[in-house]
Amino acid sequence: MRAMVLDEPGRPLRLAELPDPEPAPGQLLLRVLACGVCRTDVHIRDGEVTTDVRPIVPGHQIVGVVERGGPGTSTPPGTRIGVPWLGWTDGTCRFCASGRENLCEAARFTGLDLPGGFAERTVADERFCFALPEGYGDLDVAPLLCAGLIGHRALRMTGDARRLGLYGFGAAAHVIAQVALHQGRTVHAFTRRDDAAAQAFALELGCASAGDALAPGPEPLDAAIVFAPAGELVPAALRALDRGGVVVCAGIHMSDIPSFPYADLWEERQIRSVANLTREDARDFLALAPRVPVRTTVTTFPLERAEDALAAIRAGAIEGAAVLVP
Ligand SMILES: [Zn+2]
Ligand SMILES: [Zn+2]
Repeated sequence: MRAMVLDEPGRPLRLAELPDPEPAPGQLLLRVLACGVCRTDVHIRDGEVTTDVRPIVPGHQIVGVVERGGPGTSTPPGTRIGVPWLGWTDGTCRFCASGRENLCEAARFTGLDLPGGFAERTVADERFCFALPEGYGDLDVAPLLCAGLIGHRALRMTGDARRLGLYGFGAAAHVIAQVALHQGRTVHAFTRRDDAAAQAFALELGCASAGDALAPGPEPLDAAIVFAPAGELVPAALRALDRGGVVVCAGIHMSDIPSFPYADLWEERQIRSVANLTREDARDFLALAPRVPVRTTVTTFPLERAEDALAAIRAGAIEGAAVLVP
């Protein structure tokens, strides 16, 4: 099979011919129909998120069709399923035992520790695969598997915040804005000051305002979600909050956060991160998305152009989400 492999972080992905993977007990062999490209894939490619596995086949928003199941599996061949970032947990550590498998100390992640979807075929643990909502095409549903799932977990961490700010208007924000609007919240988009395209896109999706992320918005926020990996956005978002508000950092990596006066945190403002997802998050969001309904905007790239997709995300040049097609 053809796959895009990362031999060493910092080097470009390389098109390789690999043997078809063999499903181990509990695993499904999938033919990849589409695979979303995530900001995390950029961090893996650039060495900001690391693992000991070599080479890495990235990609953790996999839409695939089951070709064959390994021993002990029950999903029939021909079933379309999705594979997200959380690929395996031990099920026994204190985090798994308390409903927080997203924090599992032994967790393995798809497209990092486990084979990903930048390939024609892959294998995945059946227990971490999900039925996908009907009514979505393969390309359209792919971004729901990380941008959607982890974005939704971040949105839940804002509680009942009515005035919501989204910092960085890429794949996750374009999905989560739709969910937040559906829930009756007011959404303000914050982008690079001169990113007129992202601002127009945000307004088109129903955001109440769209403007410079380093400047205050038109009204104080009850919560902000920072999707962009730029640490300077954290104090900026904090300054945009009303008292009692929360800044949720939803990315896996971010540049250093500059210092800020304690007065900006005072009055019970909070800063927190969101890490990974639980399988419950996945089931909840995949049930919710068609009810909103979430409509994704995607730009497709052929598999061998994965580097171009990563470069476009790095540059903030994608409207909505990027998806690879084998
Ligand atoms: Zn665990
Ligand atoms: Zn992701």
